[in-house]
Amino acid sequence: MDCLFCKIIDREIPADIVYEDDEVLAFEDINPQAPTHVLLIPKRHIATLNDIADADRALIGRLTQVAADLARERGFAEEGYRVVMNCNEQAGQTVYHIHMHLMGGRRFTWPAG
Ligand code: 5GP
Ligand code: ZN
Repeated sequence: MDCLFCKIIDREIPADIVYEDDEVLAFEDINPQAPTHVLLIPKRHIATLNDIADADRALIGRLTQVAADLARERGFAEEGYRVVMNCNEQAGQTVYHIHMHLMGGRRFTWPAG
């Protein structure tokens, strides 16, 4: 399958990996938008949020939990941080393997652009 993030999982493309377990991989975003900008992905290929099945429920919960763990590790859990998942073209999704952006270390505005 021609998927950039599957290639990162398979170590065909290098990435700065910050967390890995059987189900989840987390790595530094190549174009960071905050002092911390990590992408968390399931190792199972799922193209968009619209493709999540009942069987993926725990996996999606796990992404959130790992994001919170990384926020704690990096010291900005209490001051606050942002997690974002973009779905499809209008939200700006560019890689079609679901990913959670974890961004922290600066103040964010709301509503998002
Ligand atoms: P999206 O726009 O789909 O929500 O987010 C895709 C993210 O993947 C972007 O923030 C982009 O900077 C990041 N990205 C794109 N290509 C690569 C890559 O080859 N390596 C890494 N580490 N991040 C990438
Ligand atoms: Zn993939």
